[in-house]
Amino acid sequence: MAGALFDRVAIVGIGLIGSSLARVIRRDLPQTRIVACARRAETLAAVRRLGLADETTDDPAAAAEGADLVVLATPLSAYGPLARRIAPALKPGAIVTDVGSVKEAAIADIAPALPTNAHFVPGHPVAGTEHSGPEAGFAEMFADRWCILTPSPETDPAAVAKVRALWELARMRVVTMPAEHHDKVLAVTSHLPHLIAYTIVGTATELGEDLQSEVVAYSAGGFRDFTRIAASDPVMWRDIFLANSDAVLELLQRFSEDLTALQRAIRRGDGDTLHEWFTRTRAIRRSIIEAKQA
Ligand code: NAP
Repeated sequence: MAGALFDRVAIVGIGLIGSSLARVIRRDLPQTRIVACARRAETLAAVRRLGLADETTDDPAAAAEGADLVVLATPLSAYGPLARRIAPALKPGAIVTDVGSVKEAAIADIAPALPTNAHFVPGHPVAGTEHSGPEAGFAEMFADRWCILTPSPETDPAAVAKVRALWELARMRVVTMPAEHHDKVLAVTSHLPHLIAYTIVGTATELGEDLQSEVVAYSAGGFRDFTRIAASDPVMWRDIFLANSDAVLELLQRFSEDLTALQRAIRRGDGDTLHEWFTRTRAIRRSIIEAKQA
């Protein structure tokens, strides 16, 4: 299947995720023509310098024209306008996919804009780093990570199979699930942890100057890991919290109840509660290591 998977792929938004996918296609589907689209001239110049595409353009419709597969890989808030831009240019039978970190909102923005003779296969490669832009990408980023596809039951199975095959080339483990379920799971595994990191690092920057310099010096005590997460792209994460607000707010409610319980245990000197809690959480870390997701 590999050689004939796609003749022409348009990657609209060629930053960390889009450029990593372009590298996979370059590596494993060398016959496939890649058209890259971004807004800024310097992004497109970087793409050409890195040899990641056969053509570059700042016009999403021109990129989509004649493509067998269009991959939307911009921040979530651009999906709706971009879907409307590419729709008239899509050839009959074209497959459109996305890589957005929130699926219900991505589907609500993209699906209504597309013509009925195009196939939409929403996706989320659950892999990444805190870096952005085409220079930051690398093909191996996806290896052994999960890719979640959230097609509707009516989606053409052949289109789903092709998108699955692409992510499998990237050595991802591909699963399908309903979009709503995806958004709840990712609220726990990704969105809440990012919000906590943004909070902690923000709190530290409000401390007095004497403490602030020590926070940097002694950051290896745990703070450093939060700073890495809190260095993630502000536009992308703004969009994620706005797009997945229901699931995140529901989870935050439970989180703050649990936080209050721990606060009470500390105030009462209730070591048993703390010990029992931390023992339980340690087991979760072990199960992540066993699942090779550490
Ligand atoms: P990124 O590195 O910041 O790249 C975004 C790209 O989109 C850039 O090439 C940017 O081009 C382009 N872009 C932005 N707005 C555009 C517009 N209106 N029209 C055309 N191009 C536009 O972002 P990323 O980390 O790859 O994230 C992209 C998507 O992947 C997001 O939807 C995110 O939810 C999802 N995702 C991210 C991760 C992660 O860890 N980063 C993981 C999984 C999924 P310019 O340089 O010209 O602005």
